[in-house]
Amino acid sequence: MAVDPYAWIEQSLATIHRADWYRSVQTINGDPGATVLLEGREVINFASNDYLGLAGDWRLIAAATAAIQEYGTGSTGSRLLSGHRKLHCELEEAIASLKQTEDALVFSSGYLANLGTITALVGKRDLILADQYNHSSLKNGAILSGATIIEFPHCDVCALKSELQRVRQNYRRCLIVTDSVFSMDGDLCPLPALLELAEEFSCMLLVDEAHATGVLGKTGAGCVEHFGCTGRQLIQIGTMSKALGSLGGYVAANATLIDFLRNRASTWIYTTALSPADAAAALAAIHVVQQEPQRHTQLWQNVAQLKELMQKYLPNQRLLPSESPILCLQLPSAADALKVGQYLKSAGIFAPAIRPPTVPTSRIRISVMATHEAAHIEKLIQSLHSWFEKL
Ligand SMILES: *Cc1c(COP(=O)(O)O)cnc(C)c1O
Repeated sequence: MAVDPYAWIEQSLATIHRADWYRSVQTINGDPGATVLLEGREVINFASNDYLGLAGDWRLIAAATAAIQEYGTGSTGSRLLSGHRKLHCELEEAIASLKQTEDALVFSSGYLANLGTITALVGKRDLILADQYNHSSLKNGAILSGATIIEFPHCDVCALKSELQRVRQNYRRCLIVTDSVFSMDGDLCPLPALLELAEEFSCMLLVDEAHATGVLGKTGAGCVEHFGCTGRQLIQIGTMSKALGSLGGYVAANATLIDFLRNRASTWIYTTALSPADAAAALAAIHVVQQEPQRHTQLWQNVAQLKELMQKYLPNQRLLPSESPILCLQLPSAADALKVGQYLKSAGIFAPAIRPPTVPTSRIRISVMATHEAAHIEKLIQSLHSWFEKL
């Protein structure tokens, strides 16, 4: 009798379970915010990418609702056929103005922006140098491009330089690719040094500002602004799904590059345009970011409060180095991380365990929001403190 060709799937799932790598969804009801209803229970939310608390903001809701009333729910086609609306233009202008670039292009997600941009920029004769901790979308974009990929150790500029000296001349084009805020660690890429190497070795540089947009820099423009590198030649990718509280990805760069992507990025050309509601919400969010710097200030005050309390009450725990609202407590194993995550949940705190294969070492990942209150942060520290005390 023939072997069941699908039988391996069950075995594979069993292996995932044995390694404590199994994942499943958890349902949240009601508004997104600093506290949420998780499986029917109110918990303090340290698991959200909505850093400025905009996903439930009435102005975004009003903008999205008005866009649906004016344009309907679907954009009905790709941007180059029937899907383009004035809203897309306005959003692209707003992103370019926030980023201080000549132009910008919005994609249906950040993931698609990375896949489409990388595959448009490099191919078989080219080289990609990638930080080993890059986001999945950068890794898969690199693979899909067909370029030769060399990973360099996390944020290691010396290692990157010696790879460039060793192999750069063997390739036509070269693209250096990195997260700007590392999404599962919270640290920053060494941007000024990367820009210098890119210039010296004639490489393009692509940075993924997913967790930096609306969060870093004086005006919320991102890590590029934070490092004083605004106006330098590079390619910035980002998302509207995190601090901007909506959905969709973007590329911000010079006008020539954006024009080229409109002609060559297959994940932009062959997919349906971003929905009117998502575009309108993201546009409203950029206006809020630009008009209400106090949200940004509050976010960083909350980060400072949490870091201070951690040092005071959890001095023996391994906090990964972070310069963002993402703070990670390293734990010895996936099982340990799951236990702490479960304990926190039972204490009314939502801060998930992040495990391999997403990251090399297991951890509890905490993201701070501008809308967290001091009492929320104190409760988190108390709960973590009592867990580690018990051990
Ligand atoms: C979340 C994230 C993305 C994907 O963005 P989406 O808009 O959610 O698809 C890309 N890169 C990084 C670094 C991210 O954290």
